[in-house]
Amino acid sequence: MKRLHAHHLADNIIWDFIIIGGGATGLGIALDAASRGYETLLVEQADFAKGTSSRSTKLVHGGVRYLAQGDIGLVKHALKERGLLQQNAKHLVDKEEFLIPCYDWFSVVKYLTGLTLYDWLAGKYSFGKSKFFSKKETLTMMPGIKEKGLKGSIRYYDGKFDDARLAINIAQTAMEKGASLLNYTKVIGLLKSGDTVTGIETEDTITGSKAKYNGKIVINATGVFVDDILNMNNPDTKKMVRPSQGVHVVLEKSFLNSKSALMIPKTSDGRVLFAVPWHEHLLVGTTDTPLHEHSLEPRALKEEVDFIMGTAAAYFNRKPVEKDILSVFSGLRPLAAPINGDGNSTKEISRDHKLIVSAKGLITITGGKWTTYRLMAEETVNLAITHAGLKPKACVTQNLSIHGNIVDTESGHLAIYGSDRSNIEALIKQNPGLEKPLHPSFPFMEGEVVWSARNEMAETVEDILSRRLRVLFIDAQAAKDMAPRVASLLSKELSADENWAADQIETFNKLADGYLYHQPVK
Ligand SMILES: Cc1cc2nc3c(=O)[nH]c(=O)nc-3n(C[C@H](O)[C@H](O)[C@H](O)COP(=O)(O)OP(=O)(O)OC[C@H]3O[C@@H](n4cnc5c(N)ncnc54)[C@H](O)[C@@H]3O)c2cc1C
Repeated sequence: MKRLHAHHLADNIIWDFIIIGGGATGLGIALDAASRGYETLLVEQADFAKGTSSRSTKLVHGGVRYLAQGDIGLVKHALKERGLLQQNAKHLVDKEEFLIPCYDWFSVVKYLTGLTLYDWLAGKYSFGKSKFFSKKETLTMMPGIKEKGLKGSIRYYDGKFDDARLAINIAQTAMEKGASLLNYTKVIGLLKSGDTVTGIETEDTITGSKAKYNGKIVINATGVFVDDILNMNNPDTKKMVRPSQGVHVVLEKSFLNSKSALMIPKTSDGRVLFAVPWHEHLLVGTTDTPLHEHSLEPRALKEEVDFIMGTAAAYFNRKPVEKDILSVFSGLRPLAAPINGDGNSTKEISRDHKLIVSAKGLITITGGKWTTYRLMAEETVNLAITHAGLKPKACVTQNLSIHGNIVDTESGHLAIYGSDRSNIEALIKQNPGLEKPLHPSFPFMEGEVVWSARNEMAETVEDILSRRLRVLFIDAQAAKDMAPRVASLLSKELSADENWAADQIETFNKLADGYLYHQPVK
């Protein structure tokens, strides 16, 4: 699927929906609107899921910790969405077993009671029953867990997914339903008629070309960037969002040596910490650090990494040290800012989403979580229909398959492509040489780069290594090692020259240095 350029879109269209932002929220809205039959345009300033949507803990969950806070409604909705997402994107969402280790008997009773309620709230969308396991059973299931003082563990089930791959598959589904999606297209201004927002002005961040689009409603789904768009409408707008940073580190999976995930329910700062097996590695996080700035590439603070490593060390038999960190990445939660005050605690800030009419013709949606993207989209489109007086059409996404949705019983890493797997295999078969691995430690093949360039709107080395193959998030040094070959394959696909490839490698290496916690000694 080649990139759609501005000039491919007729100038005189008045779109029903214009959506700004190609993360979970915006893509979900584009899919909802297009599948109802509305003329839909989405613009994203970088690659799809370049922002927060590729930097999550990878859980499709009801939110066990929101249950502890008594937010039953939020948990119940999310558990239903968890079930729907698993049904509609089977190739990307797996049921995962989580163990909560207990070092006193009170915890055993407390967590078993809470998680039994969690199962019950899921109703027909339950992923399986919670259960107590003895110390001996726990150590068999998770040999890497700290043994001293262990009484046993509580098992519960949630979902696990690949966030950036789901984003690209939702983008593909939206296009299949008729939506137009422009990547590397940044909104630089809003078009207005009096007080009413009537469209957007954009700049192509690759070619620099500018364009204007008119729409009946503009949706601001830009995550932590929502205030920038609101300022384009009215520079005096009060801040809606307060960014809170969440960091993850990636280690070898041998630290826990388990197919199950670990959930630490109460860290020293009163939060939860997860250690989740992901792409044959172990993802450990996260933090919750209030920030005053936002950017597309936030960087982890040393104290955040120290906190994650310290907590892991307290629960793992083998203590991880800095040189064990293969990659460190951070994302910004677009938490809704408190109406009053500007405190440093993120605890009082709502975790649910905020959906508001910001001006005539402009709706803003922010907050929430990946798991509930579909429901957020449904609510947003419903509000837009009423606000803009569009002809009402019913939402159809509850049972709508996401691109790739099949049960793949074959093993191997290509299963993540779902129904595209056979086409990738055919491409590789027809082009001998494309089966070559990109790196000795990873199963990824050269053919996957070609596939992503042709079918998944990948434009840069970063798009491939960060969000199509995920290597930057798993092992930053391995990603740097792969960059030259990826640049060469991609330049051929995009008909670019050697200078382009050299430039791509340099840009990618600089970026990847930010994910390397321990710089290798040369
Ligand atoms: C550390 C962390 C862990 C998380 N873990 C989980 C989890 O395990 N499970 C879960 O369900 N949820 C999780 N979440 C929440 C979830 O990731 C977010 O709610 C979700 O990704 C937000 O998506 P979004 O589309 O609103 O924002 P984003 O993904 O940030 O998308 C906004 C997009 O808007 C684009 N944009 C901004 N300005 C412009 C402009 N001017 N023009 C064009 N485009 C623009 C940006 O480039 C960006 O791609 C986590 C969040 C964090 C931070």
